Amino acid sequence: MSVTRFRFPYVEMPEVATQLRVEVREFLAEQRANGGFVPMADCWASGMSAEFSRKVGQRGWLGMTWDKKYGGHGRTFLERYVVTEEMLAAGAPVMAHWIADRQSGPQLIKNANPEVRDHIIPRIVAGECFCAIGMSEPNTGSDLASVATKAEKVDGGWRVNGTKLWSTGAHGGDYMVTLLRTSPVDTKARHEGLSQFIIDLKSPGVEIRGIADIAGQVHFNETQFEDVFVPDDYVLGEVGGGWKMVVGELALERSGPERFLSSFIVFQEAMKVLVNNPTDKTREVLGQVVAKIKTLRRMSLGIAGLLQEGASPEMEAALVKDMSTNFERELLEKIRSVLPQHALVSLDSLTANLLREGILRVPSSTLRGGTNEVLKGMIARQLGMR
Ligand SMILES: Cc1cc2nc3c(=O)[nH]c(=O)nc-3n(C[C@H](O)[C@H](O)[C@H](O)COP(=O)(O)OP(=O)(O)OC[C@H]3O[C@@H](n4cnc5c(N)ncnc54)[C@H](O)[C@@H]3O)c2cc1C
Repeated sequence: MSVTRFRFPYVEMPEVATQLRVEVREFLAEQRANGGFVPMADCWASGMSAEFSRKVGQRGWLGMTWDKKYGGHGRTFLERYVVTEEMLAAGAPVMAHWIADRQSGPQLIKNANPEVRDHIIPRIVAGECFCAIGMSEPNTGSDLASVATKAEKVDGGWRVNGTKLWSTGAHGGDYMVTLLRTSPVDTKARHEGLSQFIIDLKSPGVEIRGIADIAGQVHFNETQFEDVFVPDDYVLGEVGGGWKMVVGELALERSGPERFLSSFIVFQEAMKVLVNNPTDKTREVLGQVVAKIKTLRRMSLGIAGLLQEGASPEMEAALVKDMSTNFERELLEKIRSVLPQHALVSLDSLTANLLREGILRVPSSTLRGGTNEVLKGMIARQLGMR
């Protein structure tokens, strides 16, 4: 096994991205002031607002890096980075469009039948079409090759039966990019016989059941497929080529700033309370937090730079996701330890609400998108340690 080094190139923000940041900040400040949203922790996985997503689409901030010939905006990954970073920092309700913009759109542009692509992509760009990810199942999570939900060939298409689990946003989604078994498991080549399909979630035979999380809110789902017909055109790429696509998609899923900025809004609001009367402990904690955020951001920007070069930074994304999600847990604990009692117990304060939400949501960060143990295994392999 060859060992390749991790790459985190230094990235200079171009002037155009800096100007864009000002525009995005103005938009978010105006939306917040006008009641367009109330900031929330973990907003990309818990703040579903089709109306807000449409406004983001109207501003030209969805499908930013996609080629204009497919309906995208042909901008750079760094410009997209600035938009996602500002949305996360503001705690804006971006969940409805997040998955389609981050990974399903690029997957469709690369692998979908041209007619299907042209039917779906412009609607994603407009903030009017949302997607979910159908990888995990009741007995399949880390070991994705054990997917058992089946697609059988029938006249003109495929018949799908089985259950997908934990599909974030499926309850508000239009399509699910779904990994299915299209031929029986070959124990010597377990990654073969898997294919990716685009399933219209309004199709007959699809049942979506919300699952309440620890806070009693529904953000993910169990999705049942019973004799669901999927036309041939809705297969992504080659039948049997699903595994390679999933690996590429996971690199995009793990690569963004959401992995270390999900709780940033909690930190920002807590700062407003803490600056009034800082103790030595507060200063020490804030120093540690800021140093870590700067380091993670530097690494995360390096990944955006690699994406801009056309690379697929799977290992770098795994490393940053592992470090970032551990940091998010630590961040909330640190904020809790320095916030004064009155801010913690005040039920109606934004800071207390954000902290409460953040603490309830953060345990999921080290599971979704691949658990930290699995990521560490990948990193160890990259370093030649296994
Ligand atoms: C909030 C949230 C949102 C999610 N959204 C989606 C979604 O939209 N779509 C989707 O398809 N899935 C989604 N998931 C599912 C997520 O991808 C899985 O939970 C995750 O991959 C782990 O799978 P599992 O839950 O089956 O646990 P398992 O794979 O059964 O793992 C159980 C434990 O064993 C450890 N383990 C397993 N294999 C190894 C190994 N090889 N080495 C070391 N340790 C190992 C794991 O780290 C874990 O601690 C979501 C999960 C959460 C929590």
